[in-house]
Amino acid sequence: MYISSIINGETFKKESRDTLAVVNPYNQEEIAQIILATPDDLETAVTNSYEIFHQTMKKMPAYKRADILLKTAELLKERKEDFAATIAEEAGKPLKFSRNEVDRAVQVIRFASEQAKQINGEVIPLDAAVGGENRFGFTKRVPLGVVAAITPFNFPLNLSLHKIAPALAAGNTVVFKPAEKTPISAYKLVQLFHEAGLPKGALNVVMGLGEELGDPLVEHDKVQKVTFTGSLPVGRGIREKAGFKKITLELGSNSPNIIFKDVDLEAPIEGLVTGAFAFSGQVCISAQRIYVQQDIYHEFLEKFVNRTKALKIGDPLEDATEFGPMIDEKAAERAKTWIDDAVSKGATVETGGERNGTMLTPTIMTNVKNDMKIIAEEVFAPIVSVIPFHTEEEAVKYANESIYGLQAGIFTKDLNRAFSVADQLEMGGVWINEISTYRQDNHPYGGVKQSGIGREGVKYAIDDMTELKFIGIKLD
Ligand code: NAP
Repeated sequence: MYISSIINGETFKKESRDTLAVVNPYNQEEIAQIILATPDDLETAVTNSYEIFHQTMKKMPAYKRADILLKTAELLKERKEDFAATIAEEAGKPLKFSRNEVDRAVQVIRFASEQAKQINGEVIPLDAAVGGENRFGFTKRVPLGVVAAITPFNFPLNLSLHKIAPALAAGNTVVFKPAEKTPISAYKLVQLFHEAGLPKGALNVVMGLGEELGDPLVEHDKVQKVTFTGSLPVGRGIREKAGFKKITLELGSNSPNIIFKDVDLEAPIEGLVTGAFAFSGQVCISAQRIYVQQDIYHEFLEKFVNRTKALKIGDPLEDATEFGPMIDEKAAERAKTWIDDAVSKGATVETGGERNGTMLTPTIMTNVKNDMKIIAEEVFAPIVSVIPFHTEEEAVKYANESIYGLQAGIFTKDLNRAFSVADQLEMGGVWINEISTYRQDNHPYGGVKQSGIGREGVKYAIDDMTELKFIGIKLD
């Protein structure tokens, strides 16, 4: 199978470009070849996207944009199994989580379809200002133009749609640069939009290397907005190069979860096993630090370890599998080095910590310290640390000791405490009696500190993908 860029509806032949193999992370079998886009292809994609914005998309009525999105959602729902299998194969994500990703993606497009009809402005009371008599003013939200959408491998479908669907709902065009590890779902997604009636050129996908295409895309003067989800170092570079463009950065975290002694442990344990190990911890809001009040620490740890040991490890394409490989051997090696480094500084491996190729077994660590990489940095791997605390103040202090601030979870039955802690946590979002890893696609989502800039969650992404325009009239 060959995966090509799609620019103005056209694909490229394999003989015309360099190629790159896409492998299944579980068994290393080659599943596709990417026909790599060149910087010239990128230039064509942006120029075409710019023309289609001015000729077509910015004039397209809202009902039509909404119809195309709705049709795309219907087609995706019909092809759920195909997309889920594609994600399982290219990303190594177990089918049960891949299916969930497709279900969420369908919802995201539906939300965008609904929102396309709700992009409105307001009447400004101009007579509130001295001299404003006989003047009438209102605002409109207008599309920006070309949006560059750069996406990661870990939710190749849903996180791409968190950019593409709001951008199109608002009447923009998109140049889409998916992760090189997961191009197949991206390719199929663009085809789906075309099948649903999206004009050619409104969504161009460039299949190439981030390090080669990233700068020319981010710096291009016909691109009005860059929306990026990925790692902190790449996000930092984009921030520096984007100049005056609007920007959204959805970056990493080392999400904390705080468990107070008044809770029943069953629900948090069940949730946190998923929260720490779903997709091998390669989730931006994966539970990385679990702070447990001293009185229940040992009980929690024992039950958490036992439940983790029961995870079914295996081939992502098998229905029963709960835990699969990491994206590549380099990522698993790096994570294993971090475990070894922590152990050399006094940490304990309670379970896991064994690597074989791309597989790193679900790992629970204790006796950790703040300066260990597994605490201070984003592990983005199946590694979670369990840490005791005594008081609320201590828990809040530990949780906030981070360069990141994306999402946190708090477990307590005490409502006053829950609200107090939620207020004190330096996070973009806080869940009470829910794990940090839980996300719905219609609430504002994004980070503070070095977890990012801007918010997604369809409606909120649309705000960031439109410009507020004021129009005033002086009446006789
Ligand atoms: P990544 O290495 O930063 O890559 C993300 C995207 O950026 C890929 O498409 C990549 O292309 C591209 N890229 C690479 N170098 C670039 C450059 N110099 N300029 C522009 N684009 C460039 O991240 P990843 O490993 O795919 O994903 C993991 C990271 O994403 C984690 O840190 C995770 O926390 C974060 N994440 C955040 C959220 C959130 O919502 N906050 C959600 C999911 C993931 P190539 O694939 O071709 O290198």
